[in-house]
Amino acid sequence: MKTTNENRMAAPCGTYCEICFAHQAGANAVIESLVARGIPRDRFPCPGCREVQGACPVLETPCSTYRCAVEKGVDFCHECAEFPCDKLNPAAHRAETLPHNIKIFHLCFMKQQGLEAWKAKAADIQKRYYKGAMRVGEGPVLE
Ligand code: SF4
Ligand code: SF4
Repeated sequence: MKTTNENRMAAPCGTYCEICFAHQAGANAVIESLVARGIPRDRFPCPGCREVQGACPVLETPCSTYRCAVEKGVDFCHECAEFPCDKLNPAAHRAETLPHNIKIFHLCFMKQQGLEAWKAKAADIQKRYYKGAMRVGEGPVLE
């Protein structure tokens, strides 16, 4: 796996660490709840997945998706012969607070349109996911 200036804040799974609450952290309620659960405060703001080599502070153990991408020798999961695998399967559980369900969309977007275009679009994708009104056949619409 290569980390470059261009992909430094883009996790192999398609999460954009640049717009993650734990990277942008000043104090916020989610971080306070993580600190209350025992995560050291000095792990925030998180410098990003690649910088911490998958030891994402919101996880109890280092990220197995990151480790898998290292073992497969890919920079992003969309480069993997097994993509999309079970680790990226969408899940309703915790979907209102964590962005796991948009990883596949992120990975497809960056594969199709390139890393820079995806980085420019990622905040909009995330906003549509959390704030958009779902219109069947149209996707989430910002009102
Ligand atoms: S490694 Fe995890 S906590 Fe850190 S910025 Fe990336 S997604 Fe957020
Ligand atoms: S097997 Fe899955 S998690 Fe591992 S690199 Fe391939 S797509 Fe990513």
